[in-house]
Amino acid sequence: MKRKIVRIDEEKCTGCGLCVSPCAEGAIEIVDGKAKVLREELCDGAGVCLNVCPTGALSIEEREAPAFDPAAAEENLAAKRAEGTAPRCLRCSADESRAVLLFARYHGESTWVCTRCLPVLIHG
Ligand code: SF4
Repeated sequence: MKRKIVRIDEEKCTGCGLCVSPCAEGAIEIVDGKAKVLREELCDGAGVCLNVCPTGALSIEEREAPAFDPAAAEENLAAKRAEGTAPRCLRCSADESRAVLLFARYHGESTWVCTRCLPVLIHG
């Protein structure tokens, strides 16, 4: 099927790894110093990763790819939760099994924040 999916320009990628944690589904990994989408069925094409890339290596393109598989993404996320690498709120450490998480920029860092903590971070 043809659908929207992330494209990684390997010439521009420095392998910094900043795009790995914004991808809650775990579609992006660093392999041999470059970001790769190893399992295309884990990429939902939402593009949350795009804005964190300092070199502009990430874009969304429309091309032939396996359909996004929500069950496989959830399974991968569960594995990340078990190993303690799933996205967590920077303030209360809740993962998305306990709270709604939003991807955010805070003090120059790309991070996750839950909807309970967001007002505190905004208003103090
Ligand atoms: S953020 Fe950009 S430069 Fe860094 S690893 Fe990801 S694609 Fe490569």
